Amino acid sequence: MAAQQPPAAAAAPDSAPAAATAAPAADGWAPSSWKSKKILQDVTYENPEEVDEVLAKLNRLPPLVSHYEIKNLRRQLAEVAEHKRFLLQGGDCAELFDYCSQEPIENKLKVLLQMSLILVWGGRTSVTRIARMGGQYAKPRSKPTEIINGEEYTAFRGDNVNGIALSERKPDPQRLLGAYFHSAATVNYVRTLISGGFADLHHPETWNLAQWDFTHVESPAVRSEYQAIVNRLTDSLDFMHTIGADDPTKDAIRKVDMFMSHEGLLLDYETSLTRQVDGKHYNLGTHYLWIGDRTRQLDGAHVEYFRGLENPVGVKVGPSMKPEELAPLLDILDPNCEPGKVTLITRYGHDKISQYLPDHIKAVQATKHKVVWCCDPMHGNTESTASGVKTRRFNHIAEELGRCFRIHTESGSRLGGVHFELTGDAVTETIGGSMNLLESDLSRNYQTFCDPRLNYEQSLDIAFMIAKYYEG
Ligand code: PEP
Ligand code: MN
Repeated sequence: MAAQQPPAAAAAPDSAPAAATAAPAADGWAPSSWKSKKILQDVTYENPEEVDEVLAKLNRLPPLVSHYEIKNLRRQLAEVAEHKRFLLQGGDCAELFDYCSQEPIENKLKVLLQMSLILVWGGRTSVTRIARMGGQYAKPRSKPTEIINGEEYTAFRGDNVNGIALSERKPDPQRLLGAYFHSAATVNYVRTLISGGFADLHHPETWNLAQWDFTHVESPAVRSEYQAIVNRLTDSLDFMHTIGADDPTKDAIRKVDMFMSHEGLLLDYETSLTRQVDGKHYNLGTHYLWIGDRTRQLDGAHVEYFRGLENPVGVKVGPSMKPEELAPLLDILDPNCEPGKVTLITRYGHDKISQYLPDHIKAVQATKHKVVWCCDPMHGNTESTASGVKTRRFNHIAEELGRCFRIHTESGSRLGGVHFELTGDAVTETIGGSMNLLESDLSRNYQTFCDPRLNYEQSLDIAFMIAKYYEG
């Protein structure tokens, strides 16, 4: 969330968001033109009138973010596309309404800020931080139902559709309002923390590097590598302090941006938060949205909705993406070839990336589009243990990420960012990392109802890995 104030024009009536008009633009796009296309992962409710009432209410509620913040993010992502910045995106697979609470929000913010500090230092580059937070409630599912104890139930679709408890599996439209208010409370607390100095380099709870004792790191060699990086980082911060470059009154250091994002899956919800400002359409429910790997069909409803937005947008790209689909997809989502408008978030799997990424890079290089290339090393590396627990191996995540950096370099391209499922809490969902979490440890604190996340230490492991990559 941008801590900075919008320019004075914020109060000007011509810049105030208005409910999106239903009239289609010259190119046939309107906030609800997606309704004439095929809608995958749609939700069926028992009472459509109640859904309409909820959507009308959502349409009257105020925006959660401003179009100034979205424009700021667009500028930053243009710099990422031009290789002048790095993107760090991370957060829960499925955000639950229960995570809208002081400690989980602070922990998530802290791990993202600490990771970004390591990346800024390691890559000698500015970092744009986007949290999967403040609205990451809807989940695509591979099957609409699941069998539990011999009975068939609607699958858990995310807290904005139904509940994880078996008694709450019926889709409830009131949950869409719940999503808005939980997003609002989360976004508000993040703003409060950032404007209150949580991200300042002087804030001891966020930045006390002396507390990073690395006792969890099993290997002495890795521990001393980490300690050496932190020592050099501490030296740099001390030096800045000595010369006054970290003066908290100086904007560049003090003002940290933390942008919000989620998968734009439930198009009715997204449309109700789509507003018109200065003749352009913004989704003002979040800064950044992405289309999932299951809903990115060229002629589908999601691509249709996304093509009319001013927000920067992401598209997940997995092994099923045909190289020849990329140029038409980018022509639809980025007709004016604006750098950083589209982020391609690749997620193949450690054993598949070498087979697919080079051709995808070539296909984009043959166009005029300047995309942000972002690596999601999580979603192609999900597996189940013999006892049926969904997990990921840290080594596979690290391998896909390392290969992604290398393939981009070898292809005359550049990896612009990374996308992780992570939490600041001490969960045990991913095997491995410097703490060497074993399969037998998973049951200790396995919390996720969706995909397994990196915990706090494993998230820092990744940041150190990227910093070391840059060091060469
Ligand atoms: C996700 O990001 O949680 C997700 C479902 O990803 P994908 O669309 O890449 O499978
Ligand atoms: Mn996921």
